[in-house]
Amino acid sequence: MILAKKLITLGLSGLRKGSNAFRGQVLSAAPARLQHDQTQQVRQPNPSTRPETSSSKTLMDIGTRRIFNEDHDLFRQNVRRFFQEEVVPHHKEWEKAGQVSREVWEKAGEQGLLGIMIPEECGGVGGDLFSAAVMWEEQMYSNCTGPGFALHSDIVMPYIGNYGSKEQIEHFLPKMTAGKCIAAIAMTEPGAGSDLQGVRTYAKRDGSDWILNGNKVFITNGWMADLVVVVTVTNRDAKTAAHGLSLFLVEDGMKGFQKGRKLEKIGLKAQDTAELFFEDVRVPADALLGERNKGFYYLMNELPQERLLIAGMAIASCEFMFEETRNYVLQRKAFGKTVAHLQTVQHKLAELKTDICVGRTFIDNCLQLHAEKRLDPSTASMAKFWASDLQNKVATQCLQLHGGWGYMWEYPIAKAFVDSRVQPIYGGTNEIMKELIARTIVGQK
Ligand SMILES: Cc1cc2nc3c(=O)[nH]c(=O)nc-3n(C[C@H](O)[C@H](O)[C@H](O)COP(=O)(O)OP(=O)(O)OC[C@H]3O[C@@H](n4cnc5c(N)ncnc54)[C@H](O)[C@@H]3O)c2cc1C
Repeated sequence: MILAKKLITLGLSGLRKGSNAFRGQVLSAAPARLQHDQTQQVRQPNPSTRPETSSSKTLMDIGTRRIFNEDHDLFRQNVRRFFQEEVVPHHKEWEKAGQVSREVWEKAGEQGLLGIMIPEECGGVGGDLFSAAVMWEEQMYSNCTGPGFALHSDIVMPYIGNYGSKEQIEHFLPKMTAGKCIAAIAMTEPGAGSDLQGVRTYAKRDGSDWILNGNKVFITNGWMADLVVVVTVTNRDAKTAAHGLSLFLVEDGMKGFQKGRKLEKIGLKAQDTAELFFEDVRVPADALLGERNKGFYYLMNELPQERLLIAGMAIASCEFMFEETRNYVLQRKAFGKTVAHLQTVQHKLAELKTDICVGRTFIDNCLQLHAEKRLDPSTASMAKFWASDLQNKVATQCLQLHGGWGYMWEYPIAKAFVDSRVQPIYGGTNEIMKELIARTIVGQK
């Protein structure tokens, strides 16, 4: 009942997976800030009349792109408002603190913005992939990378939804959707990043319990996490390391589980990236997620969605940076005219816009494929590698067009620039993406 109200509030009612209905009328139950013009009827989408990004007025316009319909547009308006009202005003303070507030997680939960793709019967919102993509995109359009919502909702929650027991699903997913349980996933270790098979964190059987020892590094949401999916070795004698990995659900407060420092990063300043330590952490048998020794298989299944998400965020960030730069050069004067009057600047903008729109087409195609469960791992790797490289190219060139002001933290392009840098590194480095793509070209080495 509460959930249904949430969906209606946000315009998601017609967006549940498998739903063909377009019922996006907004009820008066909506909080004032989320209300819409109730006289406005949502019409059936007509893809042929929706402009693509390349022909829309700005690259962040609402009502564009054929993968979306008018219910998504309504949802996007609300998500945009959420970021402007609940995130943007606090972000500077969070950058100083190296973490966001718990309150923003709960507000996101109250407004149905977490666990969008998780089916309702599992305690999620029951929305579609495109609605989740709206959430990633709008976060990048707000230029506020602090809240690790996407990792929580679209990376960690699916592990529990897809491989969790009934009890694990019922226990964790509803409170994760509500923003009352913040989640992280811990794969990387000081000695094992690209090479996941080098993981050393060990889970040893003790009666029906498991005892975990090891440490993890660079864990997004790690400091605030209430729940961590931890990748461990459970069979040191397996025929390959990949055959001996398992996933465990470790909760904050468990004896022996300690959080290290919040790591000082060059970007993503408001995100709590942390080290995690496990010293004789005793967990019960039901903390094992899925089957023993199937962890690597689960990771390989879920990584394409993580890579698509990074790619989607990368292109949205490009769109944001382009619009920031367009606005800047239109008002900045040099030699008695605006910078936008210079032909070299115009050509640079033309190049950037073309690159971004070409990228947008590919990413939308990948989103469509993933919605149809047809996105293969190699194509997801192409999306991640290409879009995150483009993001860095766009960041460098847009900052250049801002001149010295682009180097000043007070200008949004400076923040977008430093935040871009990590994108080719996490989620599998772009060198690893090329390895994965190459295997499909020349066969497994
Ligand atoms: C801000 C941030 C957030 C993160 N969040 C998380 C998280 O939430 N959870 C988590 O588990 N991890 C997280 N990570 C870790 C991230 O996924 C790793 O940093 C990444 O996988 C690279 O591993 P590494 O740092 O050990 O680099 P290494 O593996 O040591 O790589 C060093 C260099 O060697 C290259 N290289 C390595 N192997 C090959 C190869 N076979 N062929 C060609 N080149 C190669 C790499 O591309 C890279 O350029 C995060 C990292 C950062 C910076």
